[in-house]
Amino acid sequence: MPKDSEQLRATLLAYVETLRRAGRRSVRLRPGWRKGLPSLSIPQQEGVSESLSDARAPLPTAKAPFQEPTSEPASLPSSGSSEPTDQSESSRRLEALRQTTAGCRRCAHLAGFRSQVVFGVGNPHARLLFTGEAPGAEEDRQGEPFVGPAGKLLTRMIQAMGLQREDVYIANILKCRPDLPAGTPGNRKPTPEEMETCLPYLREQIAIIRPEVIVALGATALEGLTGLRKGISTLRGTFLDFQGTPLLPTFHPSYLLHKPDLRLKRQVWEDLLLVMERLNLPISERQRGYFLTKD
Ligand code: SF4
Repeated sequence: MPKDSEQLRATLLAYVETLRRAGRRSVRLRPGWRKGLPSLSIPQQEGVSESLSDARAPLPTAKAPFQEPTSEPASLPSSGSSEPTDQSESSRRLEALRQTTAGCRRCAHLAGFRSQVVFGVGNPHARLLFTGEAPGAEEDRQGEPFVGPAGKLLTRMIQAMGLQREDVYIANILKCRPDLPAGTPGNRKPTPEEMETCLPYLREQIAIIRPEVIVALGATALEGLTGLRKGISTLRGTFLDFQGTPLLPTFHPSYLLHKPDLRLKRQVWEDLLLVMERLNLPISERQRGYFLTKD
């Protein structure tokens, strides 16, 4: 096989694998790709076809729950490749929305305090969307949600599900860090009014991405999305509805960090197992047993 063809084949396979891991079931091939495929002799079972028949094939599972991965996440091909039109359209609409929020000053007190707007990050076609309440100090500094200690734990939770952070979408209800008096350390919870003011942006993100499941991380995020104040301990593990999309509340990763209790981790993991079942993701026996105690 000519070297160029080998490179094209490898690029195609990497691209298809990335889409498959993100839950895509089909790809649109450009005419040039269609012409080139037969001569590349790509085995059908490797997934390069107009219909990814094995979209539900087992995804790689994490080596251990909530622990650092040993392999790098898959990445999309860089320049020279083209994404399917619908994905490009989602990306375009998300980027337009990101630019709108970047200049937003609806909450003057937050706009004056923030370093930058923290819009959201991830796959514009994600089947799974996580949302927290608001950016903290580290997120405000880096411009990305869930990058502090709680974010690192969230990443490990995603990896324990057999996914990568790039497969899902991660956002907050509030796009700006809640303000604090000068010199005050830490973060504060957003108020219901602040969340209500900013919620239309998250609604729009969800409308563009169209995830199959939303996970609300923590009581404040749940309240911001639904108005429910019953308590996360009561409502976690039960699918609710957010404008037609199943919404599962669970504990915020920062709560797990502050209360390192195995039973609490198991509860969160059971919630994530429910999400995996809803998304038809493969679940190994080992995954089912994470954090089970003997008593
Ligand atoms: S919190 Fe949301 S609505 Fe308020 S200024 Fe920031 S982006 Fe705008």
